[in-house]
Amino acid sequence: MSILQNVKDLVRSRSIHVSYVDVGSCNGCDIEVLACLAPRYDIEQYGIYVHNNPREADVLLVVGAFTPGWEEKLKGLWNKIPEPKAAIAIGNCPISGCVFDRRGSYVDPPVAKHIPIAAEVPGCPPRPTEILQAILSIRDSVFAEWEVKRK
Ligand code: SF4
Repeated sequence: MSILQNVKDLVRSRSIHVSYVDVGSCNGCDIEVLACLAPRYDIEQYGIYVHNNPREADVLLVVGAFTPGWEEKLKGLWNKIPEPKAAIAIGNCPISGCVFDRRGSYVDPPVAKHIPIAAEVPGCPPRPTEILQAILSIRDSVFAEWEVKRK
């Protein structure tokens, strides 16, 4: 293995990469997740990077109320993330369906029925600090397995 690859692995094993999926929200939670990236909360100071490519991710943030149309897409996304990995449900929607879970609606909560959820951040919407805390709370368990499972 090249020195460059070794350096990359070392750096990568100390920073957590986050991917994001919205399965049908009002965008309230999206805005709070975006706030985590802005200078006020500056998620990168904690070694957390947002990655659009799930193959480079460690953690999947799920926002919004799950509907059956997302079944295959969400599982496909989850399967692309290499081990070790974790998913976090952000906001009340992926936990309970929130305001969208009404009689006759297509909403099918919780999202934990479809992919394993390691942490939940309740709220409508939750605060950026709560989202950050949830990511940091699972960081150690992901890091602990990283060097073994990604090599
Ligand atoms: S939890 Fe509330 S703010 Fe977040 S997507 Fe659902 S309805 Fe919108």
